[in-house]
Amino acid sequence: MKIKLPEDVKNIIDTLEEHGFEAYAVGGCVRDSILGKDPADWDITTSAKPEQVKALFKSTIDTGIQHGTVTVLLHHVGYEVTTYRIDGEYEDGRHPKEVLFTPNLLEDLKRRDFTINAMAYNDSHGLVDEFDGIGDLERGIIRCVGDPKQRFTEDALRMMRAVRFAAQLGFEIEEATREAARELAPTLAKVSAERIQVELVKLLLSDHPHLMRDLYELGLTAVFLPEWDLCMVTEQHTIHHAYTVGEHTIRVLGNVPADRVLRLSALLHDIAKPECKTTDAEGNDHFDGHPVRGKEMAREILRRLKFDNDTMKRVQTFVRYHDERPELDERAIRWALSEIGADAFPELFTLKRADTLGQSEYMRREKLEAIDRFEAIYQEIMERKDPLTMKDLAVNGQDLMALGVERGPVLGETLKRLLAHVLDNPEENTRERLLEITRGELL
Ligand code: ATP
Ligand code: MG
Repeated sequence: MKIKLPEDVKNIIDTLEEHGFEAYAVGGCVRDSILGKDPADWDITTSAKPEQVKALFKSTIDTGIQHGTVTVLLHHVGYEVTTYRIDGEYEDGRHPKEVLFTPNLLEDLKRRDFTINAMAYNDSHGLVDEFDGIGDLERGIIRCVGDPKQRFTEDALRMMRAVRFAAQLGFEIEEATREAARELAPTLAKVSAERIQVELVKLLLSDHPHLMRDLYELGLTAVFLPEWDLCMVTEQHTIHHAYTVGEHTIRVLGNVPADRVLRLSALLHDIAKPECKTTDAEGNDHFDGHPVRGKEMAREILRRLKFDNDTMKRVQTFVRYHDERPELDERAIRWALSEIGADAFPELFTLKRADTLGQSEYMRREKLEAIDRFEAIYQEIMERKDPLTMKDLAVNGQDLMALGVERGPVLGETLKRLLAHVLDNPEENTRERLLEITRGELL
């Protein structure tokens, strides 16, 4: 087996070998190379201690000296070079309590999570594959290195990682590994929200976001997203739907492109449905108010999972307005754009179409046509640059104060009325006309 190492990686490995150390490309980059994918980054494992690595390269960063990691910079790219190590127990399910350096590559490979991630390669020794990572890559299997229960007990995040890699690679989780995860899922509670978030996002952005179902089945979402578990068991007895809220959501996830905000929005768009569900006398379910309540829940959830404010705000907008269906005329759509914010488009249309395709086939064509019409009118409004916000008004606060409008709430109200006026009559957004209206109001 020959892997084509980038020049800089070769250079690092050669330099270390020339000075009497061992060094290999290891982990994800070896896995991805064998799969014929371009590795996102190249990690190197070596018998050299961090200080010894630092002495050999001009430009290095102390990334995690206590864990043996030094970043070597070559041509503005960072390569993590980590000393062979044995991880002690993971104290808080987060950091190894202690890290022991070892002269033995196999010890280092043993501490790694999955067989497909525990292969090392260099040009002088070829592939080192002690745990049949190649076989599992061929079979399409995620399998722990060693006893899965022990490995998940050392670091509970590995359960999330198993599902995440299965989603990224389209692999199955091997039965004993799956069984161990089912048993130990509650211990994920020890893991920090930040680490869980990373794995969740990678799963959502993968080609197989439907593995959200596996997170539920294994009992992992019960720990960090119990709202999702409710979705998975909430039936929708309505002509518009054919699946539970969760199964519907899984289809919507698959129907939006792999964009972080869109996939998160798809995941959360109906998150409030279980809570908002009512059943009428005929036995039909209704979910009144779920976008409004969903917006609040999205905020709580994303905050809990330590997402940044910008992501939170954008997802909240999509959740709030995913079901918005204004009258299909220019005036109503200008008002909608003004309220929602034009920058949520055109992604909102993407989400709406994906949502529709995840529903029953009842009126599907009509629903899609309404979205097309909504979008066509939106485009006309944008091309004409119709005024949609106070900033678009042909007058500003200064102009109005010059006419004698009082600074403060009165000024704000006046601007609001002018905006309402031009949303109804965009052709009247001229300085002259708006001043005239304001003068009339002052009389
Ligand atoms: P990605 O393409 O997402 O970067 P990766 O395999 O490189 O995938 P990383 O999280 O970057 O994953 O970790 C690099 C390597 O370190 C893994 O391939 C694995 O060998 C090891 N590793 C990472 N996290 C763990 C963990 N929690 N437990 C055991 N080994 C781990
Ligand atoms: Mg990596």
